[in-house]
Amino acid sequence: MRPISCVSCKKPIPREALGTAHRNHCPFCLWSKHVDEHRGDRKAACQGLMEPVGLALKKDGELMIVHQCGVCQKVSKNRIAGDDEESALLEVQEKGMNLSQEKKELLQNIGIILCEDRAIAEESLWGK
Ligand SMILES: [Zn+2]
Ligand SMILES: [Zn+2]
Repeated sequence: MRPISCVSCKKPIPREALGTAHRNHCPFCLWSKHVDEHRGDRKAACQGLMEPVGLALKKDGELMIVHQCGVCQKVSKNRIAGDDEESALLEVQEKGMNLSQEKKELLQNIGIILCEDRAIAEESLWGK
């Protein structure tokens, strides 16, 4: 099977990923493509590029990547895969800290609380 290449950084993406049933973002740059209406259904007509805008912390302590579509602005949360690049994850965490107040409030309104603490992010990524 030919690997698909990333919509953003163009690197070939292995189809199988550790820790997730289906891969929905690039493990190197973490960008994604808007193909799902609901998780995993591949029904969205949008096909816009989804930028990783920050890391969110779920109540159970799991970190999620927050993606926002550059075309329709839809925001979605996605699980981190076992082979996601750690430096890229930390870059996204930093990006989330530097989002405008307006954008942070927009995310809060839909129940997404950004992880703005580097130590917590690192502990969640490597602590267990
Ligand atoms: Zn990529
Ligand atoms: Zn979209």
